[in-house]
Amino acid sequence: MNILVIEDDPSVRTLVKAVLEHNGNSVTTADNAEDGESEAVENEFDMVILDLGLPDRNGYEVCKNLRDKNIDTPMLILSGEQETDVKVKMLKVGADDYLTKPFNTEELIARMDAIKRRSEAAGDKQLSCGELRVDLLKREFYINNEKVSLTNNEFNLLAYFMKNRNRVITQEELAEKVWDIHFDTQTNYINVYISYLRKKIREHTDVDYIETIRKKGFAFRCE
Ligand code: CA
Repeated sequence: MNILVIEDDPSVRTLVKAVLEHNGNSVTTADNAEDGESEAVENEFDMVILDLGLPDRNGYEVCKNLRDKNIDTPMLILSGEQETDVKVKMLKVGADDYLTKPFNTEELIARMDAIKRRSEAAGDKQLSCGELRVDLLKREFYINNEKVSLTNNEFNLLAYFMKNRNRVITQEELAEKVWDIHFDTQTNYINVYISYLRKKIREHTDVDYIETIRKKGFAFRCE
C-alpha cells in the first residue's frame, strides 16, 4: 500500500515509517497538518495515518477538511488522546479507526489490514478514471472532487462507459445495456444523451473522455 503518515513527533514518525516499510508498504511522511493535508489532496494514497496533536492545527481539522473535499482515503487516527469523546468525534467526522499511543506495532498493522479489507469490500461501488469518480451506491458523480449532478439516463450512461473503458461501444450496445431496448436507427436519442454528458464533463475539465469513433460508436478514454 501507498501510505501517508502525518505525525509531528519524529520518534513516532520514524517508528511507524520503519514498521510500515518493513511490511512492504511505501510511506510518505508529513510533520504538520498543512503539508499532510496537501499531500492527501494532491496524491492518491491507500491509507492515511493521522496524529491529532499537530503543531499548526488539530488532526480533527485535517480529517474534516479532507472528507469535506470528498477525499475518502481510509484513515486511521494514531493519538495520545485517550478520551472516548475524542474517539467518537473522530469516527463521526470520517476516520475509519482510532488507535491510542503508546501502541503496539502488531496491533497497528492488524487494524490497518482490517480497514483495508473493509475499504476493498466497499471499493466495488466506486469507479474512477483520472479526475472522474462515480459512486454507484449513492449514484453520485465527481470531477476533481466536485459534485456534478446528472440525470438518471446520463448517470447510467456514464457508469456503463466507466465500466467498459477503452473499447469501442456501439449505439446498439448502449441501447441494449443502458436503456434495455432494441436500437432503432431512426432515433437519435443516444447521441443526444452523449452530447449532454459530454457537455457536463467538459464544463469541469478540458479532457475529452468520450471519443466518437466514426461509423462504429464511442470509446470512453481512460489511462
Ligand atoms: Ca503530535
